[in-house]
Amino acid sequence: MKLNSIKFGFIVIFSCLIPFTSSAGKLKLSQVESPHFTLFYRGDKKKAEEKISLLESFHTTQYSRFFNKELGDKITVILYKDKKEYTKVTGVKKEFFAHFESTDKKIYSNSQENIGAIFHECVHYWLNYNTGGDRVRLWFEEGFASFFESPEKKEDKSYEFGRPNWRQKSLQGKWTSLASFMQRVDLREEHDKAQARLFFLWLSKQGLLESYINKYIEFLDFDFSGIDALKEITGKNIEEINGEMKLYSEEISAI
Ligand SMILES: [Zn+2]
Repeated sequence: MKLNSIKFGFIVIFSCLIPFTSSAGKLKLSQVESPHFTLFYRGDKKKAEEKISLLESFHTTQYSRFFNKELGDKITVILYKDKKEYTKVTGVKKEFFAHFESTDKKIYSNSQENIGAIFHECVHYWLNYNTGGDRVRLWFEEGFASFFESPEKKEDKSYEFGRPNWRQKSLQGKWTSLASFMQRVDLREEHDKAQARLFFLWLSKQGLLESYINKYIEFLDFDFSGIDALKEITGKNIEEINGEMKLYSEEISAI
């Protein structure tokens, strides 16, 4: 679908050759800039320029679909040399590929990581910027962010989002009824994360992704669960939506 694809053209990027010393250690990082991003990196300069170009295209094509508030500052992304260096310097668990640090509002990952992992963290940045951080339910935060984590390149070099990915497998036989799922505050199990992503795949398929994000944020002051927002944009009751979503999940699992 056109709305779910982004095109990558040439973007003017400013490269800075002066090494930057990271506050997290004595590592020297180089810097590259685009209109909405500052990227500090270790490793190949060409790869860094390619990455910031993809990030810039992602932001300019996707952000305005969901949010009106202009970004105040550029988004800072720090890419260590490889996964080993990223894990060592930031102290995150080995399972992490990338993360958004809410205290300094920066995105951390490594130069060899898939761009989808960094797109995912951009969404955390957007949500933090637009909602002030921790008011959003975890299933909403992770589901929406993970919607963008597996971009698929099309023949015309644009990317498409919203396809089932590796998470879907863990959801088989583990469905939680939608009403209780949306009221949950934790998201520990892999199948919960898969269901959170599925929620957004379903919205996208219905053409309701933008309107749901808008309504969820609009209703956030009185309904964290997002149930009222979902009922309003679909005009259906939660049991009915639960049935449709579960069926959709089974259909895509069977492919
Ligand atoms: Zn996440």
